[in-house]
Amino acid sequence: MKKGFIIIIALTLLLTGCTTGKRIEEYENGKPIVYTSFYPLYFLADEIGKDNISLRVVIPNGVEPHDYEPSIKQLKDIENADMFIYNGAGFESWTDKLLKTIIDEKKALSASDEVELNRIDGAVDPHIWLDPENMNKIGEKIKDRFISLDEEHKEEYEDNFKQLSQKLMKLDKDYQETLKDKKKDKILVSHAAFGYMAKRYNFDQISIAGVSPEQEPSPKTMADIIDFAKENNFKYIFLETLASPKIAKSIADEANLEILTLNPIEGLTEEEQKNHEDYISIMEKNLENLKKALMD
Ligand SMILES: [Zn+2]
Repeated sequence: MKKGFIIIIALTLLLTGCTTGKRIEEYENGKPIVYTSFYPLYFLADEIGKDNISLRVVIPNGVEPHDYEPSIKQLKDIENADMFIYNGAGFESWTDKLLKTIIDEKKALSASDEVELNRIDGAVDPHIWLDPENMNKIGEKIKDRFISLDEEHKEEYEDNFKQLSQKLMKLDKDYQETLKDKKKDKILVSHAAFGYMAKRYNFDQISIAGVSPEQEPSPKTMADIIDFAKENNFKYIFLETLASPKIAKSIADEANLEILTLNPIEGLTEEEQKNHEDYISIMEKNLENLKKALMD
């Protein structure tokens, strides 16, 4: 009888231990370990968690993330983390296997579950982070999850999120106001990363590659884009920082286009890190270049 009672208590402790999350002293240096898959989510988690979390990123900066495969060691580390935040919508194909096997789904947060998804040519477009309003929605969810992991710092998470939210709303307002009187409504880009940004600020992207930079265009697609750019008097084509510029450069030569940067913020380059750039500062630079292409 007594033995059965002890087992029930032990079981209850185990079960409540699982559902209420770990107590603070069980975390590494008292902090929950949070893994994010790539930079934009790292940015959100860092702004909200600051010193109260131990934050890591799976896809290293400077690496094009669409075809990234994590190492066995990284997978082990994610398995041992207290939370794993990923984009979803097919962006990190490696997470599909993980979520069914080594990653506890209760620990995971799929950012794309928080926003309305768009499709491009039938495929789900994963580039949700290029709309500041989406970043705000994802940030709010991250804030809630941090509070449930670590009640003790609830107020700090809430204050940090409020400040982040103000920065994101200011960015959104800058885009709305700057692009309000635009003269063009189309831009030429190297891969179709800007669908959410384009939708929010009322323009279209014409992309050389598909939603992933590895999908190379056919010679016919390239010829069509060159004709289109000439017929519509395009002056600019956008290149990005991590993908190969070869094809976009040859289109620029053929159609006599000036090359500008539009950064899909899929990771920071070494130089961007050195210059302390972040999501907000890069989005502001993107706006400067968009303004050239859409107002000219
Ligand atoms: Zn992309």
